[in-house]
Amino acid sequence: MPSRFVVAVLLSLLLPRPRAAAAQGPAAAGPPPATASGVSRELARHRAATISDVRYDLRLDVTSLDSAPGRVKVRFRRAGRGDVVLDYRGRLGAVRVNGAATAAELRQGHLVIPAAALRTGPNEIELAFVSAIAPSGASVIRAHDPTDGSDYLYTLLVPSDASQLFPCFDQPDLKARVSLALTMPRGWSAVSNGSLAAADSAGPALTARFAETRPISTYLIAFAAGPWHRQSATVEGRTLTAWVRRSRAAEADLDTLLALNARALRWMERYFGHPYPFEKFDFVLAPAFPFGGMEHPGAVFYSEDGFIFRERPTLPRRLGRMSTILHEAAHQWFGDLVTMRWFDDLWLKEGFATFMAAKALADLEPGADAWKTFHLANKPAAYAVDRTRGTRPLWQELGNLDQAKSNYGAIVYNKAPSVLKQLEYLVGEPAFQAGVQGFLRRHAYGNADWRDLLGAIAVPARRPLGAFGREFMLRAGMPVVEQRLEVRDGRITRLALAQRPASDSGATTWTQRTEVVLAYRDGPARRLPVELRGGTTLVREAEGAPAPDFVFANARDFGYFLLLLDTASVRALEGGALGRVDDAFLRAMLWGSLWEQVRSERLAPERFVRLAVRELPQERDEQIVPVVLARLDRAMSAYLAPRARGVLQEDVERMLERGATDTALAYGVRKAYADAFIALAVSPRGVAAVDALLDADSLAGEPLRDPTRWDAVTRLLVLGAPSAEARLLAQARRDTTPDSRRQAFIAGAGRPQPTSKREYWTRYFADSTLNEEWAFGSLGPFNSLEHETATLPYLGPALDSLPFLQANRRIFFLESWLAAFLRGQTSDSALAVVRGYLAGREDLPLDLRRKVLQHLDELERTVRIRSRDSMEAPPGTR
Ligand SMILES: [Zn+2]
Repeated sequence: MPSRFVVAVLLSLLLPRPRAAAAQGPAAAGPPPATASGVSRELARHRAATISDVRYDLRLDVTSLDSAPGRVKVRFRRAGRGDVVLDYRGRLGAVRVNGAATAAELRQGHLVIPAAALRTGPNEIELAFVSAIAPSGASVIRAHDPTDGSDYLYTLLVPSDASQLFPCFDQPDLKARVSLALTMPRGWSAVSNGSLAAADSAGPALTARFAETRPISTYLIAFAAGPWHRQSATVEGRTLTAWVRRSRAAEADLDTLLALNARALRWMERYFGHPYPFEKFDFVLAPAFPFGGMEHPGAVFYSEDGFIFRERPTLPRRLGRMSTILHEAAHQWFGDLVTMRWFDDLWLKEGFATFMAAKALADLEPGADAWKTFHLANKPAAYAVDRTRGTRPLWQELGNLDQAKSNYGAIVYNKAPSVLKQLEYLVGEPAFQAGVQGFLRRHAYGNADWRDLLGAIAVPARRPLGAFGREFMLRAGMPVVEQRLEVRDGRITRLALAQRPASDSGATTWTQRTEVVLAYRDGPARRLPVELRGGTTLVREAEGAPAPDFVFANARDFGYFLLLLDTASVRALEGGALGRVDDAFLRAMLWGSLWEQVRSERLAPERFVRLAVRELPQERDEQIVPVVLARLDRAMSAYLAPRARGVLQEDVERMLERGATDTALAYGVRKAYADAFIALAVSPRGVAAVDALLDADSLAGEPLRDPTRWDAVTRLLVLGAPSAEARLLAQARRDTTPDSRRQAFIAGAGRPQPTSKREYWTRYFADSTLNEEWAFGSLGPFNSLEHETATLPYLGPALDSLPFLQANRRIFFLESWLAAFLRGQTSDSALAVVRGYLAGREDLPLDLRRKVLQHLDELERTVRIRSRDSMEAPPGTR
């Protein structure tokens, strides 16, 4: 509905364009930009302007299991007159362009097809090539199953590894129709984006031919092949198929997973007002998968380990699995149907998928308290990074796709959905939904950027969103909001919310809507909507109200800010008010705020621990208990100096042990206590109890399964308990599943001996058969806080290896690596190593420097809190 208002809204969206607008113009006619390695923004722009209507007719032969010879016909229309550049990192064979043999060679991962061989209009390039298959570091991952000797292969091409699989235009805005023919050993089956059209066997091999797909981006192309077990179900006219490796088929609850996926798709269809956009839907439980899930159109991959429960799942685990299913389902529309133009807008698809998953969960599982789940899963993680000097804006400038891995992290996964929650609150649910539907209709099977989305929402919202875009999408960082409460004669005289940037002292502010709650001991709470503007916002409606028990300025969690409570509210919460809050969602946020007081050095960690020891036994919420216990663990093992920890250790162990064995508690609560007990036990009695656990068949009335047993074994190894090695041997014999060897490898990383640390360190780099997911799992035990002296010598080398890891490991590995190494240290010497590294490496790429700064923040806090902890706390403040 074009109107003058609409025009005004659209004009207001003409934000400082974060990228040059000229590239679509004259450059299109000239030669492609010089081709350094990776895919530069200029090359991508040039190709998007000159190439269209792309089709890949791809044939791959994976029968040898360590390399994949293939042929691809790349068909496209060419508008410019220059050379055409394809991306490929592998071994190249013969090249034919429009039927004629053409001399072309690979340089820096590119293949330049000379203009003389090309036509204006339709072209066809045919290439022969050989790509690698390996347990890690290749575009085709091979997972060997030692229990039955089977091998399974699957691809993982995001963000820019399609060009490691076959020669292509590897950028998200050159969508292509893909026809795959996959030759594999006889007896195997395969799944891909398109549906299976035919299967022919010849000799010992079998070729599966898949129907041509709708237009999809290269990073979304996928296949999985192996001797899979398959199961299909038809739900309301839609047939879905689940794929799982044979040895784990019996453990996987495929009926449930098929039903959950069907429900997820149905919910998204309704919300988006657009039918499921691809022709079929399969999902694969991929062994040793390094992500939670990956949203390939029509062929979603999930982490087998996250989706098959080896012990009775707790509520957070079940909700986590459901949220992953909803997240990948939302991606079929947001990411797959409409795709970001470039990975600078990664936040758009990730933020949306997580936000939509929460909305769907709230609808589908009313008992889940989905916004509490959302808060616990996203806000603390987002704030922990966004408050640091290493933070980045949601929209992240990206000069070359080979740096795209660095854009992944808490900003896109946790801040982005939080900002979308604020946006929906700002414009209202109907306008938000109408805007999203318009956005999807307009850009279906194409690409769009964040301005397109805000533009689409601004129209039904009848509200310009330019300032919102500048503050939340283009600007890095976040506000800290401090409650300032003044009370006289039992009445509020002034309630102010003062904001400042979390990581510098500038005068920047963010405009957003929030809800302030005034909680009363006897009587209902008062909720006051407030729009935060400028440095200080006065909550006028609160003036004259009776003095509350406590104030909380982000009720229902709409605001995106780190909240510091006023002193009176902290005292009241510590003094029993926390336990009187009936609303579990609010309680979850209050626990979070109190923890932030600790991390901001306003509340001594002992006080948090004492509060937890006193209040947690009354807490029944299965989602809150594990989160508070994780904070208790951090406070005890990192924030408290040994003497202070020693004073509290016995009380803490006793509380945890009681919780773990109290059959009156819900299973998830008991399990959380058991896990925390295993993680925190250090007293001789505690260690003996962990050891004795391994002789038991059950824990608090529940059969004791292998995952918990492995945790206990790992802990014994970490502590150097005399029984540890024997327990490890016994557990490895007892667990006969494919997971056993991985668990044994992870547990071994917990050995305290310097020789063992050296062995693992060497394997991380020298062992090409070591699966990335195994290495990832072992980083925690390797960096146990108990071993910080033994691991300190590896801190410098761990930092030195960042460029290597960035180039050779998958998206999340580098982040987990940094987190594990820096969270495993608490000393001034460790801090000096990291600071020295940053000071001495001026050539360190900015994205890596930022990652280090993001994780350095926790180490700096730990050292500060710990040193203050050993001093006398000034009265009143701590
Ligand atoms: Zn995602």
